[in-house]
Amino acid sequence: MFTPIKKVTKTLLNLGFEEEYGNDLNQKHVVNFSYLLFCATSVLMLVLFVPREVHSLVTLSALGLVIALIGLKYNQTGRFTQAQLIMPLVKIGQIGLFSLMYFGTASHFHWLLLNVVAYTFVVFRADQRIAKYWILITCALLFLICEFTNTKGVYLTVQDQRVVILSVFFAIAFYFTVVIHLVMNRLKSVNQHLRVLAEKDELTGLANRRKVLADAVNIFADSVINRDQCVFAIVDLDHFKKINDTFGHEAGDLVLFEVSTLMASVIRSQDKIGRYGGEEFIVIMPNTTLREAEYVMEHLRQSVEAMEIKTDKGIIVPVTISIGVASITPKTSRYEEILAQADKGLYEAKHSGRNRISIQSAR
Ligand code: GH3
Ligand code: MG
Ligand code: MG
Repeated sequence: MFTPIKKVTKTLLNLGFEEEYGNDLNQKHVVNFSYLLFCATSVLMLVLFVPREVHSLVTLSALGLVIALIGLKYNQTGRFTQAQLIMPLVKIGQIGLFSLMYFGTASHFHWLLLNVVAYTFVVFRADQRIAKYWILITCALLFLICEFTNTKGVYLTVQDQRVVILSVFFAIAFYFTVVIHLVMNRLKSVNQHLRVLAEKDELTGLANRRKVLADAVNIFADSVINRDQCVFAIVDLDHFKKINDTFGHEAGDLVLFEVSTLMASVIRSQDKIGRYGGEEFIVIMPNTTLREAEYVMEHLRQSVEAMEIKTDKGIIVPVTISIGVASITPKTSRYEEILAQADKGLYEAKHSGRNRISIQSAR
């Protein structure tokens, strides 16, 4: 039920922003939200005061609406600093004017300044300290003036003032809730993004050594507990040093990337693959017999052999891989034992001519 509302909110908050992990995205969201809320309250004021024919308040509210729309536009067309600054200035002006001249300080309308304070803390960066302090000082001064003076409401009855107090209370509560929600959501998505980055090998896009070894530990433990079969394979590119020497390091990088992409597409969805180091990769095949693993790895070997990787000069680089395969046995107590067996298999594959598979089974 909330999904469409969430979608609309996300679209509104993201209006004009394409990047997903920009440093100041959180601030941009809060600025956008503040302007949207400002538009909404200006419209509300118009609805309230047009029927009462309070012309000056109608004019001020209309002006507020126009400025809010301009700020929104600024935020979305990249003039973020202007958008950042206009909002608190207009709000301070509006709160001061309404509080002292129209509603009377007894309406407690000036408590809305808390919104401006929250906004200032969230939106301004460390290098914008001066603007931040000026706004905070102005808010504090205005608040004190409103607290210690007693201006009468020109247009509001006592009953209306109660309504204003209640509205202000809800406005502040709503504002804080949304801002906290925005900040928390952003922290969550940044954390998630950082986690993905920390687990990824930059060149190949595969899982890095840390991640694939963590997968190895987990899958090994699950297999032992469930008494399942499980196979590890170490894949190594043949004569890769020669590829680098002949075609250049950049071509070597391209080969690593292309072979990695192909391998990730050839293995089954339940298998895990990661870069172990240099031109070596690990494939972990849970719930798999040696025979099944041999089939998958042979398919992988043939697919790499059939690749036609072209350098930027249009030369095709011949690539082959050697693979050592080992499976868990009832006696295996640590995942490193299977890795060592797979490594032994790789050594044998290399020494018996490369471009082949050697199957071992852990003792
Ligand atoms: P073998 O068939 O016995 O595996 O021979 P090899 O040449 O593939 O193995 P060796 O270990 O002698 O050389 C591996 C080379 O891989 C050496 C290193 O410079 C290169 N290498 C490691 N990481 C990268 C990388 O990220 N990019 C490039 N272009 N080369 C890399
Ligand atoms: Mg090699
Ligand atoms: Mg190697």
